[in-house]
Amino acid sequence: MSSSRRGFLRDLAGSVRDVTADARKGSDPFLAPERLERYSRQLVLPEWSEAAQRKLAGASVLVVGAGALGSPVAMYLAGAGVGRLGIVDADDVELSNLHRQLLHFTPDLGVPKAHSAAAKLGFLNPEVVVEPYQVRLDAENAAGLLEGADLVVDCSDSFETRYAVNGACCAARIPLVEAGVLGMSGLVMGIRPGEGACYRCAFPEPPPDAPSCATAGVLGPAAGVIGSLQALEALKLLTGVGEPLVGAFLQADLALLSFLRVSVERRPGCPDCAAAYA
Ligand SMILES: [Zn+2]
Repeated sequence: MSSSRRGFLRDLAGSVRDVTADARKGSDPFLAPERLERYSRQLVLPEWSEAAQRKLAGASVLVVGAGALGSPVAMYLAGAGVGRLGIVDADDVELSNLHRQLLHFTPDLGVPKAHSAAAKLGFLNPEVVVEPYQVRLDAENAAGLLEGADLVVDCSDSFETRYAVNGACCAARIPLVEAGVLGMSGLVMGIRPGEGACYRCAFPEPPPDAPSCATAGVLGPAAGVIGSLQALEALKLLTGVGEPLVGAFLQADLALLSFLRVSVERRPGCPDCAAAYA
């Protein structure tokens, strides 16, 4: 180990001790030793901070879909300390889900995914308030489900839901992380309504005859990579740490491990964006 590395670790240990000592004095319950220990490996990141942790604790995130993408998204956000997580999913756990939907186990077969997910997330981090919604998000109920959310992460597997989420987020000016995965390829896009392109700007119409995971297949780790990227972008948007992928999407060919970042301009006449720019 280099001397500079040893010095860094010594400084780090000192700073954690200082914060822990303050917490023991009872000056701030947010800095309780158990909480500092739980989040210690992100708190020591040079890019992270106590302020970032407090932002997460005060944040409410709606995760649409508790499947292949929603599992890593919800687990990473709960683990990181997001204050409230809403989990929207109308389906029950099926045997064909288990190779890629890591929040659900074999004994959960037949259990609503929203409730199966909420139970696991409660074990992972009891500090997080998890609210399961066993319902399919659509254009009718989207605004109500999004109410109070600081960020939405769309992990659904249908274009109908994607456009409903995008429209509702634009109307309510709630930041959104979109994604999709199929086979061994995927896509992630960050949207900050009123600041550039939305999902419908990039993809005005759903592709005709789009295949599904049931017909085209999907590899579990491919969904894990795309879901993890969604969680990463969500943490960036919530805390201001790092540079979020906004006004662009990332296209991932996981068979070749090739990633392409594509900038997207706002499309004049996009009916979803119009609400955000009104
Ligand atoms: Zn748009």
